[in-house]
Amino acid sequence: MTPDPDTTAFDGRLVLPSDAEWDEARVGRIFNGRRPDRQPEAVLIAAGIADVQAGVRLAAQRGWTVAVRSGGHAWAGWSVRDGGLLIDVGALREISFDAETGIVTAGPATKGGDELSPYLEERGRFFNGGHCPSVGIGGFLLQGGQGWNQRGWGWAAESVVAVDVVTADGELVRADGTQNTDLYWAARGAGPTFPGVVVRFHLATRPIFGWLAHTVHGYELEDFTAVMTWLYAAHHDIPDNVEIVCVSSPTPLPDGTERRLFLVTGLAFGDDEAHARASLAAFNACPVIDRAVFVQDAAESSLAEHRAQQELQNPEHWQYICDNAWIDGENTADGVATMVEGIRPLFTTNPTERGFAIWMSNAPRRALPDMAFSLHSDAYVAAYTVYENPADFARNRSWVDEVFAHAEPVTAGQYLGDSDMTNRQLKFMAPENWARLQRVIADRDPDGRFHRYLAADPERLNENHWERSGTPVR
Ligand SMILES: Cc1cc2nc3c(=O)[nH]c(=O)nc-3n(C[C@H](O)[C@H](O)[C@H](O)COP(=O)(O)OP(=O)(O)OC[C@H]3O[C@@H](n4cnc5c(N)ncnc54)[C@H](O)[C@@H]3O)c2cc1C
Repeated sequence: MTPDPDTTAFDGRLVLPSDAEWDEARVGRIFNGRRPDRQPEAVLIAAGIADVQAGVRLAAQRGWTVAVRSGGHAWAGWSVRDGGLLIDVGALREISFDAETGIVTAGPATKGGDELSPYLEERGRFFNGGHCPSVGIGGFLLQGGQGWNQRGWGWAAESVVAVDVVTADGELVRADGTQNTDLYWAARGAGPTFPGVVVRFHLATRPIFGWLAHTVHGYELEDFTAVMTWLYAAHHDIPDNVEIVCVSSPTPLPDGTERRLFLVTGLAFGDDEAHARASLAAFNACPVIDRAVFVQDAAESSLAEHRAQQELQNPEHWQYICDNAWIDGENTADGVATMVEGIRPLFTTNPTERGFAIWMSNAPRRALPDMAFSLHSDAYVAAYTVYENPADFARNRSWVDEVFAHAEPVTAGQYLGDSDMTNRQLKFMAPENWARLQRVIADRDPDGRFHRYLAADPERLNENHWERSGTPVR
């Protein structure tokens, strides 16, 4: 049979369901071992930008809807959709740096920690990419990007100065503050409904910090309430060069044993050793510090050490179920106590040995620039079950649902990064930004060439499900 000329016109490969490598092309690069069953019509393994353009045009000819994959880290496997063409841009990982402007240009599948960060460190520069080294910058930046010290340096998307985009008609355009400004606005927060394929990001970098110091207090889980009550009172005043994260996770102890502890950590990005160490002083004022199982006070640290730690915490291809919430207690009678109780089960009852939960300070909250990303609060929580046996799914799904239902009274919305709207739909954008995004999409992608959010109820997006009128669907 003569091959269809359309399907051979690529430097990369168009893989069809009948091909031996179909499943590898469809889900092989999905980080979460819990793979979706969804079946596209074809997967284009793009070799370069021209392939992306040709892929979008082929999709138009065939009436296919386009999905995109950069790093494959979306927990819910967003890139794998039923029907249409999946364009896998995994090969687009070229990086270049302009020393005069300090701007780094990188392909969307560049791994933020494994590739971009070491490249910049060699040049004395830094970009606050994602914590897990293998996360692709594509999905990460499009959804806002909770990178290193986001509390002090802002959302990673705030450092995007331009994007190169293949549009719904296959054209390649630059979007920045002066041209195609609608796409530039949407590229910073629209997440997996961006009406185009980003093929290059242009990112502002900062000089690398002088010293990294790390404080870690390990507490028993029963001290969670006392420790968090103190931290809620203290975190606004800790200097903004300190990333403040609490983690409930299995923790190796000096005697060789391991058990789940509640870790309170401060990572100070200092100008020098004295500055970094001084920035962490407030942690020593925790009123129950004498009950800590161990205290590491402002120890010298490195990004390489943190990257290795992240890899240990997030084993690739294990099964993950996760969810997240922006915590806000402003409307409750006893703000801090209600918030602490609302999130307590997330940190103290994880049913999986390797599962973990994080609380991340985002205070004091910074004003955001004009971009699609627009919903956050003073603190973020996420919880993850991590397991190998698919038979544990039902138990772990119930646990995640229960702990986040318990947190609903103090939940303002969620972050796209750890979300799965096929299971739970929440607010993730300010209403005015949401309305503006619909206009950008209608204008840029009137024929619906690109998939929209993957959700159980696409008609009721950007609403907290418990605040809806009518039937209380999840
Ligand atoms: C282990 C782990 C750690 C994580 N840590 C962090 C963290 O520290 N901070 C944080 O903010 N998030 C974090 N995340 C969440 C992560 O940022 C998101 O899952 C993000 O979508 C990953 O980007 P990706 O390119 O790897 O994903 P993909 O699955 O490839 O992409 C997700 C979706 O984004 C869209 N998309 C991706 N690339 C493009 C493109 N080039 N053009 C148009 N649309 C595109 C598509 O709709 C795609 O389906 C983590 C995830 C994992 C698995």
